[in-house]
Amino acid sequence: MATKIIKGKEIAFHLREELKKKVSDLKTKKGIIPGLVTILVGDDPASKIYVRSKKKACEEIGIYSEICQLDAKTGEGELLERIRRFNNNPKIHGILVQLPLPKHIRTEKMIEAISPKKDVDGFHPLNMGKLLLKKTMAEILRSEIFIPCTPYGIMELLNFCGTPIKGAEAVIVGRSNIVGKPLAILLLAENATVTICHSQTKNLAEITKKADILVSAVGKPEVITAKMVKEGAVVIDVGMNRLEVGLVGDVKFDSVAKKARAITPVPGGVGPMTISMLLVNTVKAAKWSAGL
Ligand code: NDP
Repeated sequence: MATKIIKGKEIAFHLREELKKKVSDLKTKKGIIPGLVTILVGDDPASKIYVRSKKKACEEIGIYSEICQLDAKTGEGELLERIRRFNNNPKIHGILVQLPLPKHIRTEKMIEAISPKKDVDGFHPLNMGKLLLKKTMAEILRSEIFIPCTPYGIMELLNFCGTPIKGAEAVIVGRSNIVGKPLAILLLAENATVTICHSQTKNLAEITKKADILVSAVGKPEVITAKMVKEGAVVIDVGMNRLEVGLVGDVKFDSVAKKARAITPVPGGVGPMTISMLLVNTVKAAKWSAGL
């Protein structure tokens, strides 16, 4: 069977087209324009690129978008004050603090300051906690919970390419709060048997080789090689590693693609889906704020 390349970029495009229609309906029928603010502290070049592409994606589908650019020396007090103002601004339905923040700012404290109702990244402890407490994906989707964008996008990709999740062995390499942990919750809610690996995992290849669904969110090029992958696995590469040759993932693509049933490329796989799910969450935030 030929390997299927999971074209996240195309799937993300279709999703955005559907969303465009929803945004237009919200405006014409309810007079609501969803609004997103991205707060960027400092001038990290990669963060600047992400923030600009999020703004562009918002504008393309009719979401109002602002970038709040703050100096690298901004203190916690100033940032908290900005967040407080956006929490109270009715034009803004979603608040995103671009990570990483400069070292002198405590990320957790800033995220906790965002209103959980505007936490479109889904990183606030209240949203994370609610996610953890739900048993099924249907329950999660029925609730007013923001699902973190990257894991949410990965679930959409898996569904889009018809990956059986129920009863599947899913292995996630990486245990961050933004990717690995919330993804484990979502896969569990879809009845996968989930294993999370990390830098201290012994015999990583032995574990990854059992995976029907293998997700790598490590941030190291070629950390996943063909001998670590089961024949016929679905491989999702979250990694974004900027090398001289350009952007590469965690997976040694050419050799792994020969064994996988389906695989995401980098770029053009998970990345565009993450942005699309941010748009989805912003539209949800606007609807929920109006009681819709
Ligand atoms: P973190 O650095 O927070 O987490 C990396 C994880 O990988 C940690 O759990 C770490 O283990 C684990 N790890 C490190 N080295 C190894 C190893 N050799 N073997 C097994 N596990 C290892 O990263 P993020 O989750 O924030 O991001 C991961 C990657 O995904 C990055 O490249 C990032 O740029 C990308 N990313 C892409 C997104 C997209 O939209 N495409 C969105 C978010 C992230 P330990 O916990 O023990 O340190």
